Parts: sequence; structure tokens; C-alpha cells
Amino acid sequence: VFLTVEGGEGVGKSTNLAFLTERLKAAGIPFISTREPGGTELAEQIRSLLLTPREEAMSELTELLLVFAARAQHLEACIKPAIEQGQWVVCDRFTDATYAYQGGGRGLSQSTIAQLESLVQGELRPDYTILLDAPVAVGMSRARERGELDRFEREQQSFFEKVRGAYLHMAAEHAKRYRVIDASVELEAVQQQLGGEIDSIIEA
Ligand code: C5P
Repeated sequence: VFLTVEGGEGVGKSTNLAFLTERLKAAGIPFISTREPGGTELAEQIRSLLLTPREEAMSELTELLLVFAARAQHLEACIKPAIEQGQWVVCDRFTDATYAYQGGGRGLSQSTIAQLESLVQGELRPDYTILLDAPVAVGMSRARERGELDRFEREQQSFFEKVRGAYLHMAAEHAKRYRVIDASVELEAVQQQLGGEIDSIIEA
């Protein structure tokens, strides 16, 4: 099973990923937990290229190609071998983040992204995608509480609205693969929903 977890900033992705992997451990499921951009030494170096602020603006196409360069490495060196060994792969963000951030957010066309998706992945797609969804204002106020507002300061609020819109659009378009969790409620209530979804995926 190839399971991805997606969501905007401040939706509690890290906390809920920890909850998810604990649940898999408790169920005795062999899995690896990884993330994008990153997941291997080289792909993590590409991640820091992407996330390090610099004076020279990174072009949108450069950003897109770097995201997919990291993904190509991650797939060959980490994800595919794990799937071949019969392990579950839990991935913090994957190509839907590209459709959301570089597509929805930056405005690159879906067809450009789709071309790279088929070049890099062939037919490989996640089996399940858990989307942690919350209004942008909720994510922003949580980030503010944690002193992590810098991510929000680099972009306009409208950027994050577009990211969220793109995720919700994909969830509707790929309704079979998507499990949408309302992440705007209290953590306990989020984890109740999440636990139910994980159990149903384990049982499937
Ligand atoms: O998942 P995480 O929050 O650690 O992602 C780090 C940053 O990378 C986020 O701020 C996100 O906005 C950005 N990102 C991106 N494009 C992607 C994936 C992540 O801009 N395809």
C-alpha cells in the first residue's frame, strides 16, 4: 500500500503522521515513513535548495523540475524498493502537493505537471491519499501560535487559498483514493476521524 498524506500549512500534518505511523505499528504492519520533497540524502539536498531563501528568485519551472528531480530519486532509491519488498509506504506529501503548490499556487498548468508525472512515475500513483483540510485562517493562526509564521510571510494569503482549493478539487476528482479529514476541529476529533480511515484502509 502506497499511502500519502497531504494538506496545507498548519493543518497538523506532522502530529497526525506520528499518530498514523503509531497506529500501523500497533497493527503490526511493516512500513516505511518518508517525505517529499526529500526522503533520500540527495533528495533532501534538493529540498534544501527549494526551501532556502535567496536573493535570486527561483523560476516556477525551476521549482517544478527540482521537485520532480527529487521525486525521481526518491522513487528509485526508496519508494519502489520498499513497495517491492511488500512494505507499506507512508509518504508526507507526494505529487498532489505539486498539483497544489506549483499548479494551484504558482499557476503552472496541469498538463505540464501531468507530463512530468508520467515521465517520472509511469503508472505509479498512491493507493490512498489522506487530506488534512482546514481553512487557511485556521492554519495560519496555529502557525502563529507555534512561531512558524515565516512560511506564511513568504507568500500572499491568496496563494494558500489556491493551494487549498486545488487539494479540494483533487479530492473530488479522485474521490476513490482520497480520504478528507476535517482538520479544523480539536486534535482529538481529528484523530478520531483519522483512526477510522486508517482502520478502513487496513481492512481493505
Ligand atoms: O510538508 P512540509 O510542510 O514540510 O513542506 C515544506 C514546505 O515545502 C512547505 O512550506 C510547502 O509549502 C513547500 N512545498 C512546496 N511544493 C511542494 C511541496 C512542498 O512548495 N511540492
